[in-house]
Amino acid sequence: MERKAQAGYLVLADISGYTSFIAKTEIEHAEKAISILLEDIIEKLDDVLTIVKLEGDAVFAYISDDQLSNGNALLELLDNTYLIFRDSAKALHSQATCPCKACIAIPTLDLKFFVHHGEYIVQQVAGIRDLLGNDVTLIHRLAKNHVTESTGWNGYVLFTGNCLEQMQADKKPFVQQAETYEHLGNVDTYVMNLHVRYDEMKK
Ligand SMILES: [Zn+2]
Repeated sequence: MERKAQAGYLVLADISGYTSFIAKTEIEHAEKAISILLEDIIEKLDDVLTIVKLEGDAVFAYISDDQLSNGNALLELLDNTYLIFRDSAKALHSQATCPCKACIAIPTLDLKFFVHHGEYIVQQVAGIRDLLGNDVTLIHRLAKNHVTESTGWNGYVLFTGNCLEQMQADKKPFVQQAETYEHLGNVDTYVMNLHVRYDEMKK
């Protein structure tokens, strides 16, 4: 069967601080906190997007162009997902009666979103779905970037330039950067600090 390439938005939501959180802390409480936070993220993203899979500390999701007519719906979804994540992490921390390293370190966890627009093929093998294509590769490469190094931010949203154009979104609120990836070339990126967004939304 020939599979047709589709165009749409690719979203990767990635928990920052996960590796050191798991490595340095009591594994059972760490695992429980991460599971709760990932469930919150998936449950919210699932309102609008199709979840492809869980990738360790990240959730990969997408939506085709014909299912998303308005880019604002995507911005709103990411705002709300971040709000739920931060509130949930705060609640987990304040409710923890346990003094273990995992429970104490919950506030060091944060959330990053990578959003790109491009083409992909939906592959179905033995009932398992996956997405394939250069743009799928790119969004995963974007998770390795210079954002934290250059801004100090751990919670942020990163859009590719062509994604914001497709969404007809204003680029002004974002910090423009660029990343270079082997075989994929230069990518214009637009980044926003979600800590600032969170405080604005909480007002
Ligand atoms: Zn604990």
